[in-house]
Amino acid sequence: MDKDAEVIIIGAGLAGLTAAKVLKNAGKSVLVIEASDGVGGRVRTDEIDGFLLDRGFQVLLTAYPETKNLLDYKALDLRSFDSGALILDEKEISKIGDPLRQPTSLISTLFSKAGTLADKLRILKLKLKLNAKSISDIFAEQEMSTLMYLEKQGFSNLIINKFFRPFFTGIFLEDKLQTSSRMFEFVFKMFGEGNAAIPAKGMGMIPLQLASCLAANELLLNSKVLTLESGTVTTTTGQSYTSEFVIIAADELNLPFPHQKDAKNFCSVTNVYFTAKNKPYNKPLIALNTLPGKLVNNIAVMNTISKDYSKNGQALISLSLIGDHSAKDEKLLQQEILDELKYWYADALNWKHLKTYHIKYALPNDDKVSNEMAAEDIALNKQCYRCGDYLLNGSINAAMKSGRIVAEAIIKSMAK
Ligand SMILES: Cc1cc2nc3c(=O)[nH]c(=O)nc-3n(C[C@H](O)[C@H](O)[C@H](O)COP(=O)(O)OP(=O)(O)OC[C@H]3O[C@@H](n4cnc5c(N)ncnc54)[C@H](O)[C@@H]3O)c2cc1C
Repeated sequence: MDKDAEVIIIGAGLAGLTAAKVLKNAGKSVLVIEASDGVGGRVRTDEIDGFLLDRGFQVLLTAYPETKNLLDYKALDLRSFDSGALILDEKEISKIGDPLRQPTSLISTLFSKAGTLADKLRILKLKLKLNAKSISDIFAEQEMSTLMYLEKQGFSNLIINKFFRPFFTGIFLEDKLQTSSRMFEFVFKMFGEGNAAIPAKGMGMIPLQLASCLAANELLLNSKVLTLESGTVTTTTGQSYTSEFVIIAADELNLPFPHQKDAKNFCSVTNVYFTAKNKPYNKPLIALNTLPGKLVNNIAVMNTISKDYSKNGQALISLSLIGDHSAKDEKLLQQEILDELKYWYADALNWKHLKTYHIKYALPNDDKVSNEMAAEDIALNKQCYRCGDYLLNGSINAAMKSGRIVAEAIIKSMAK
């Protein structure tokens, strides 16, 4: 039987697209089969009423080694957040400098109030330590929860609850800080060495850039792969495709038969968008809600970072709520959000709801993470390989790294 391609790739998320790009660069033919109606997986942007809505608030850390190598940052027209954050607490809104990049900036704000000079010194020490520590050394460390790690470093409850917890909750998408200390060190290091950025026209430009290497006949959308047997994949509609090699780049909840996995303890998030005549604040900063029992963890006014996010110039407000809120009545949820935020932004009662995304599977469980993939992790057999963030850790960097490694392994195997 004629093969449809040398390599079939199941899934057009960042892992699958990276594998496709590396294979295409090596002159191999690919067929990418994607279940949904577009490329990007968990990184997609919708255009609704002239607003650009990322499906879930997320940022590209420009210091990520994989993205630095594999993406054209200039073409993405990256726009960066200012370092630091707005801290919303029971008393006020205050701005803190970025303890991850400029530890000294904290003294004038958070710490001066609390008087915990020791925290500042600890942050400085940590920053110096992580600057000097390689990523592979970070991932070779013994793992513990981020909370335990912070406590072990001697940080006060004040800095943990006023800064580390809300900031890293927004990244880890869990608020217990159970995520591996390796991930904390990695992210801390990345923040210290680059910017938190978004492409001017939305995070979805990242997968689109990767997918631009594919010809029209190399990408099949709206085709969910149900089974995989030797080099033949069969979709839910009964279509079969054959190839020499197959890469499973699906998320861990949707792996095809017989490779399904019982994924547990993944992280969910709800991302709610509102529009407003006036921006709640004008700086390209993330605002962190530090109150216990809160609903909204972090806020970003997307068109303060890139104007393209709002055609008519109205504010586009992105709110992240940790956990699965999909069972709640939509209107009630919106009302509860606005009731919470009016404490700081009285105008919140005039905000207009635009869209809510409930993202059940946002991040894999990152209690245990790695940055390298063993041969037995990637090759299920001689013909079938797999990649995806869940094999390393939940990040853009890991998804792309896994895709690259698998593609390189196949190229090597083809050369034999
Ligand atoms: C809300 C949110 C916030 C995040 N924040 C950040 C952040 O700030 N920084 C960061 O670095 N990372 C962040 N991440 C993580 C990052 O987006 C992911 O780690 C990465 O996109 C995962 O890529 P992937 O290719 O491994 O998986 P996916 O993106 O899940 O791709 C899998 C693809 O396979 C397809 N598929 C599944 N099953 C089948 C099948 N049987 N047949 C055909 N196709 C199939 C899916 O439709 C999907 O397109 C965030 C993620 C979310 C959701």
